Amino acid sequence: MIIGVPKEIKNNENRVALTPAGAKELVKRGHTVYVQHTAGDGSGFLDDVYTEAGATILPTIEAVYEIAEMIMKVKEPIEAEYTLIKEGQLLFTYFHFASYEPLTKAMVASKSVCLAYETVERADRSLPLLIPMSEVAGRMAVQKGANYLEKPLGGRGILLGGVPGVLPAKVLILGAGVVGTQAAWMAAGLGADVTIMDLNLQRLRYLADVMPANVNTMMSNEFNIRKLIQNHDLIIGAVLIPGAKAPHLITRDMLKEMLPGTVLVDVAVDQGGCIETCKPTTHQDPTYVIDEVVHYCVANMPGAVPYTSTLALTNATLPYAMQLAEKGWKKAAQDNPELVPGLNIIHGDIVYQAVAEAFDMDY
Ligand code: NAD
Repeated sequence: MIIGVPKEIKNNENRVALTPAGAKELVKRGHTVYVQHTAGDGSGFLDDVYTEAGATILPTIEAVYEIAEMIMKVKEPIEAEYTLIKEGQLLFTYFHFASYEPLTKAMVASKSVCLAYETVERADRSLPLLIPMSEVAGRMAVQKGANYLEKPLGGRGILLGGVPGVLPAKVLILGAGVVGTQAAWMAAGLGADVTIMDLNLQRLRYLADVMPANVNTMMSNEFNIRKLIQNHDLIIGAVLIPGAKAPHLITRDMLKEMLPGTVLVDVAVDQGGCIETCKPTTHQDPTYVIDEVVHYCVANMPGAVPYTSTLALTNATLPYAMQLAEKGWKKAAQDNPELVPGLNIIHGDIVYQAVAEAFDMDY
């Protein structure tokens, strides 16, 4: 198959959909890989490394879309790309269709085949192409939180791990899924005193078994949250109710019960946030302060670490990309049921129910 990797043109997106190592694996199996000039620069993968891996560099985005049977991307196509997409072309990328009607309509009109990373699903209902970005965000949440706890950045001026003779900071994590678990490992590794909450008792039992001694588990409910926020220095929001807005576990009135300089990192901001006072921020201007409480609510945290994020994402996408390249999307989806829910739009027809329902379109 002919595979094309355009450079991401969405603002501040430095990831790339295929690493040189991935390109080599595809070329080894007899496929042809075209990469747009400087597509990998933002992640630290220069053109000549792709060339060494067997890929061919093309000068423009137009040239890549023109020749490829499968386009591999990271973010959804933006308006400038809509007209480049060809009928029957397979697009393998994040789309998040339900949140943006113009994109959905443009992809229907393009008559392409849209296979969305975010809806590829395993039998246990986990989402293998979303997990890597949650792993990155969970780990980063602690790194960011530790940073903003520094006094000059508005925090309490407390060192996460303390030092001999001085108690460490207290970290509260709301949600014990992928983000929450990764955050707990990081905070614990730095020596903080960590509490992680969830509604799922099974999950808490598991974490109580595998986490180090400085991580405690607690049932998530309003009573417990109100109590713990009064003496915790860093609070990380990591809840998810699939397909729904995040519940507000920390409400506006709770801020005044927190210590001045407490830091809130609401990773769930992309689903509306689990902290009522959270509104999306950017890497350029990541924080704001309300009631002396620092809010960090960056909606695309992995974007700040494109090297790690690109490798983490492509580790997960490459096995699927190889199946698609080898068999074509139809046969690949027949053979691997995980790909079936990934199909959102086929030749102008919406085939993913939630997307059709979001815009009252035919399904
Ligand atoms: P996940 O499904 O693995 O975990 C979510 C957890 O929240 C589950 O264990 C669930 O039981 C728990 N939960 C639900 N309601 C709860 C409640 N009331 N109290 C406590 N726990 C509750 O999801 P995830 O992959 O960890 O993602 C968490 C959030 O982070 C999502 O909103 C995701 O979109 C977001 N995210 C954001 C970024 C970013 O850059 N900001 C990056 C990746 C993921």
